[in-house]
This record gives sequence, C-alpha cells and structure tokens, in this order.
Amino acid sequence: MKWISKTVANAPPSVLDKLLEIASEYKDVISLGLGEPDFDTPPHVIEAGIKALREGATHYTSNFGNLELREAIKKKLEKDNNVYVGTDEIICTVGVGTAIDLFMRVVLNPGDEVIVQDPGYFNYIYIGAYLGTTVVPVHVKEENDFSLTPEDLEEKITEKTKLLIINSPANPTGSIIPENYLRKIADIAIEKDLLVLTDEIYEKLIYDESHFSILSIPEMKERCILVNGFSKAYAMTGWRIGYAAGCKSIIEKMGNIQAYSGICPPGVSQKAAVAALKGDQQCVEDMRKEYDKRRVYLVNRLNQMGIPTVRPKGAFYAFPNVTEYGTSEKMWKLFLEKAHVSTSPGTIFGGYGEGYLRFSYANSLENIGKALDNIEEVI
Ligand code: PLP
Repeated sequence: MKWISKTVANAPPSVLDKLLEIASEYKDVISLGLGEPDFDTPPHVIEAGIKALREGATHYTSNFGNLELREAIKKKLEKDNNVYVGTDEIICTVGVGTAIDLFMRVVLNPGDEVIVQDPGYFNYIYIGAYLGTTVVPVHVKEENDFSLTPEDLEEKITEKTKLLIINSPANPTGSIIPENYLRKIADIAIEKDLLVLTDEIYEKLIYDESHFSILSIPEMKERCILVNGFSKAYAMTGWRIGYAAGCKSIIEKMGNIQAYSGICPPGVSQKAAVAALKGDQQCVEDMRKEYDKRRVYLVNRLNQMGIPTVRPKGAFYAFPNVTEYGTSEKMWKLFLEKAHVSTSPGTIFGGYGEGYLRFSYANSLENIGKALDNIEEVI
C-alpha cells in the first residue's frame, strides 16, 4: 500500500473478476452472469473492420475520434434521439466505460455528492469512490418496477449534490425511466442546478415501449452529457468503442484527458463503428427480438416457480426477488453449487440489491431453459 495514492486507495477491487474466478472453479456451469451479448458482431461490421485494417486504419486518430465517426454519431443522435449537437460536442472513447470515467474525472471534486440509482451499475460507485466524492444511493423500488421516481430523487438532493447519474434502460434491473418522469427529473435538475449524466448504452434493447433521451430537452444541453456505444446494440464489447455527447466545455476537457492516457479509441474500431451506424439496422432488431423471446420465457418461468420477478422493460437482465429463500449471497452460491448456474448477487449493485439476483439472458433459450430446470429442482 506504501506507493498507492490516497485517491486510488479508495478504489474497490472489481467484484466481477472475483465472481468470475469463483464461478470458474465449478464445472459445466451455465452462465447467466455476464453482461455481454452472446451474439457475434454482425458480419458486415467485421468485414468493415478487416477492410479498414487493410486500408491502413492502424494509426492514431484525433483525441476526439475520427470526424467521419463523429459525423455518423451526430446523425444518429438527431435521427434516433432528437438530440442536436455539433461534431465538436462529441468525443469517441474506449467503450462507454471510459466515457463515464473521463466525464466524472473532469467534473467532480472531492466532497461533491453524486446521486446514483441503487441497485445500479457499479462503476459509477467505484469511480465516485476513487475520486473522493460521496456517492448517494437512491433506492429504485421493486413496487415502481425499479424505476427512478422524481420524488425519491428529490429527497436525496443536498447543497453538495453536483451530479445525477441516470441509466435507462438500466443495468441490473432492466427498468426504464418513463418520459414523464424524465421531464420532471429535468425540471428538478434545472431548479437545483445539477449536472446530469445519462447512460443510454441499452437504448436499442427496449421492449414494449420507446426510448426517450433527457438530452432531447433543449434546456438540458448546458448541464447534460449523454453516453452511448456499440458494445450492447451491435455486440461489439471487444472492439472497445463508445462516445459521449453534450456540453462543449466538458467534452473538450474529456478530450484533453483522453490525450494523456488512451490517446484515442482504436482506429479500426472507429471504422467498424461507422459501418455499424451506416449499415442496415436489421441486425440490431433481430438481436432485440431474440432477447425479447428469452425475456418473456425467463420471467414467466421464474414467476411460475415462485420467484417473484418484475417484467423488465429493457436491457438483457431480470432482477428476481429471492428474499423468501435467502440472501443474495446465499442464493447466488446455492444456484452455482447445486444448480450449476451462475448469476450475479444483487448486492454487487448496491445495498438495496440485497434479496435479489441478476439473471442475464444474454444466453441461448436452450441454455436458459436448462438453467431454469436446474434452479426449479433446487428450489
Ligand atoms: N454502462 C452500463 C450501464 C453498462 O452496463 C456497461 C457494461 O456492462 C457499460 C456502461 C460499459 O460498456 P462498454 O463496453 O461500452 O465500456
């Protein structure tokens, strides 16, 4: 510990690595634990990557990413999200993960309060911790389908609150924040002078409803950064490509910081991302339809076997309530040891995740079926 800086000493180890390590000790485990598409990257995107390499996309690019990609993202944001930004208000990053990290480093001071959904994506908590901020969880309740409500949010705001992070569709609950809530949340952010980070990485995986971006509200532009990427929509986790858009002064500083570390996302991945955005979107729809089938099957069966499960509206996760049977930790271990199914304990997503497990349905219907047969027997 002698050499570790005070800020980084606060960085908790990756829980996910630990879980994967434990799960790997068991043989023949069906994984419903990973937050990564089981599909391969669509062939036309792979071909575009190979072609780009042959044509010399093997060099550094601008710290903000290629203009070609930023132009494609600009058009996408206009068409899909009603969000209007210039190419100088967009930065391409090494996955959405890096966009979040750069953004939080650029805007937060030690002692600032950051409000996050709990249960929610753990990296917001980890980054907030190593930056010396106070991460304030707002309980997203099962009775509200795990959606953040404006009332619950308002209760958590203090004079020290600087940033609100929203994630819709959400990891790990699959919840969405409806448009009328987002409009109220925007009003609150304006009234209380808060900055908002909207993580829309699961935007394309939404069922029954349509996606609404809080950044489409014109008054939000000066206080909001949107992050999105290619990992989930186009099954491109390994390509490491994402982006942030919004408020120019923040984007500019994110580019400065990226210049000191990653320099730019891989040039080849940027070319492949252009192909993903400009190409036929049927591949996205095909994957979404497949996830939807799995979602309906998984949720119905869990409910039928007596494990109450809210029907998720997006992403590829369900968040069943296992309190009747035991703690998150106990049930996670039990399912792993006795049913040979790996899930994720709800507690890795925050204190309010106790009593829940995250089931990822980024696995085939056949495997999900087998996993549920095993779990039913154990239950
Ligand atoms: N944001 C959320 C909510 C996620 O669930 C994930 C990955 O699981 C990320 C960001 C990071 O994605 P990327 O692969 O683009 O870094």
